[in-house]
Amino acid sequence: MTDKVIDSGLNIDSSYARELEGLYVSFQGDLAPKPELIKLNHALADELGLAVEQLEETKLAALLSGGNVPVGGAPLAQAYAGHQFGGFSPQLGDGRALLLAEVIDKKSARRDIHLKGSGRTIFSRGGDGKAVLGPILREYLLAEAMHRLGVPTTRGLAVVTTGETIMRSQPLPGAVLARVAKSHIRVGSFQFVAARGDTKKLAILADYTIARHFPSIQQADDRYLKLLIQVCERQAFLMAKWMSVGFVHGVMNTDNITISGETIDYGPCAFLDVFDPSAVFSSIDTHMRYAYAKQPSMALWGLTRFAETLLPLIDRDEKCAIELVAPVLNDFEQAYQRQWLICMRAKLGLQTAQSDDVTLINDLLTLMVNDEVDFTHLFRALSGLLVGSETALNLFANKAAFKQWQVLWMERLADEPITIDERAVLMRNVNPMYIPRNHLVEEVISAAEQQGDFKPFEKLLEVLDKPFTKREGLNRFAQAAPESFGAYETFCGT
Ligand code: AMP
Ligand code: MG
Repeated sequence: MTDKVIDSGLNIDSSYARELEGLYVSFQGDLAPKPELIKLNHALADELGLAVEQLEETKLAALLSGGNVPVGGAPLAQAYAGHQFGGFSPQLGDGRALLLAEVIDKKSARRDIHLKGSGRTIFSRGGDGKAVLGPILREYLLAEAMHRLGVPTTRGLAVVTTGETIMRSQPLPGAVLARVAKSHIRVGSFQFVAARGDTKKLAILADYTIARHFPSIQQADDRYLKLLIQVCERQAFLMAKWMSVGFVHGVMNTDNITISGETIDYGPCAFLDVFDPSAVFSSIDTHMRYAYAKQPSMALWGLTRFAETLLPLIDRDEKCAIELVAPVLNDFEQAYQRQWLICMRAKLGLQTAQSDDVTLINDLLTLMVNDEVDFTHLFRALSGLLVGSETALNLFANKAAFKQWQVLWMERLADEPITIDERAVLMRNVNPMYIPRNHLVEEVISAAEQQGDFKPFEKLLEVLDKPFTKREGLNRFAQAAPESFGAYETFCGT
């Protein structure tokens, strides 16, 4: 432990530490032997008010790997519980992470700067508290790509290599990710308190969460019920976004479901290549619990656990509380469906809503499943059909079936008075050309890990920074994985 303090320029206000005693332990990260700043997100650092210009790179690296503390900071490890693959663990917590600082950014928004891989804490159990370079680069890349795709997510602030060698199945370079979120309060945070039967503390956590994320309901008498409603809405929106870009999170345990509605903890996640509702990439998801198409229902499962924690706050009489909560949870599916339709209509270039749209969309998805069509390619190619391009048609083996669908789609489009060019622009703005394809992600990680070459990582980041804008010379970033890449399997990288 060290208490070396660095003047970071950050405007720190540690409300979590101040108000939520019992939900964390003060903790400082390990001092890395040779911290090296591999990547800094300058734009995000600027938003946060981090004094990059005034700080030597070595100091920044020491700060963003957890060994040093920013002036005014009170780093801590958060306690939380969680259902992991359905089984409840009453005690999880930041076992390899730290809340480095809670800052008020330049736009007066409160944001967490969080480190992953910063060393052991009292929550580490058998783990070493460390992270290795590959998964850290992966999380940085995926989170930034998701942000550019318009999906609520934690952001990547920095990647620091520590100079350590970490033992996994083989020796690997150690690294720390600095990431930024609206907060790191999770369903599991509420479960931690509820599991201890501390209703007073539960009210403090719920009121804190409401003040931080949902201030408009602060004065309401039924604010705890409203909290559930709002969290459900945010998760419905998030699920629709994931599904519309073909994202599979892989570990939707309740400790990885945020109250803010942000995607968190990019472990064994992946993007779909061919459209397959049953797609699972994670090696440990043997029961396919978190398959692509199951994500909305698994979110509801997690939200139901959240609702359970709120019952004693919603009404002293548990039966009454359940009666109030049940309709909110019952509405989730419809709320999700509404959000999903908004995303999918936009993907098909539809500006208005008609009741048959859901059939039109589902019919297309069925054809895509049958013919194992690449999800991203197809939606990007759809607007080309408007001007006679055959790219979309050529993605299907059963061309007759797709042509039939196309006729129905064209008829539907005829109900909307916008020009072909206008529609094509709108469609290109929601159907990405470039996503973090699994083979590309693996390629840049292996260049970094094996040759210490970070240029491919930088290049891929640059491509993904503008996912909707086709650019010359970037063809290979839009292509599907070569056959030789095979079936993709991901691991819970630590
Ligand atoms: P995750 O699956 O990444 O959400 O992590 C689940 C739990 O395991 C969290 O409490 C983590 O802090 C903990 N954990 C994961 N990897 C490690 C590690 N290498 N050392 C200590 N704790 C870990
Ligand atoms: Mg987690």
